Amino acid sequence: MIDAQTLEAPTENPTIRTSRRWSPGACVWCGGTESVEEYRNEPRCATCRHHESVIEEARRFMGMYGLRPIGGTLQSDDDEEYEHRLGARDSRRVLNEIRLEHQPDPELVRKALRPRAAAVVAEGKPAAKRPSTASSATGSSRTASASAKTAAPVKTGTVDIDEIQTRALALLDQLTAIDAQLSLVADQSGLAARARRSDLEKQKATVLRTLAALEKARLSAASK
Ligand SMILES: [Zn+2]
Repeated sequence: MIDAQTLEAPTENPTIRTSRRWSPGACVWCGGTESVEEYRNEPRCATCRHHESVIEEARRFMGMYGLRPIGGTLQSDDDEEYEHRLGARDSRRVLNEIRLEHQPDPELVRKALRPRAAAVVAEGKPAAKRPSTASSATGSSRTASASAKTAAPVKTGTVDIDEIQTRALALLDQLTAIDAQLSLVADQSGLAARARRSDLEKQKATVLRTLAALEKARLSAASK
């Protein structure tokens, strides 16, 4: 479902656009009120959170494989990378379209959030998540005018060595499974077996390529 808010705010109609203002409890980005929840220390609506997470996923993906940061051309090495780039670009576009013309005063937002923020701290959220949340909050609210286009690329923060290792281990399992299936069809002849072998070889090549990329990402993360 498309947020009604989005439909009521065509970019070419300045009167409607300027009349949309933030009020406590609403999304700080678009002023929407549909299931507003805290996202990176800011109240954001369901639509915004969805698009932000699409962009974040794409950013993580590029960081994980040491690929070119998102933004600019969609040129990609494979379908998965392309999907991420396309999704991120579309989400960025939507976010730019629904953005409130006047961003709320960060101080007012902080006040509105305070009870929840305090609760989060009390729960003892992992400290490791802090740097990225802090930097993105700074980017989107404190320097509201400067962040109109894209947030600064988060490079070092997105490469998580633990996550790379988890992913590498999963890939090694996958490799073992592929090898097992390969040995099953190794001696078979016929078109179907040949097609299956070729498919498995392709899968294996992809896994090996990804493992190599992960190793590169791990090394570069470890040297920081
Ligand atoms: Zn929103």
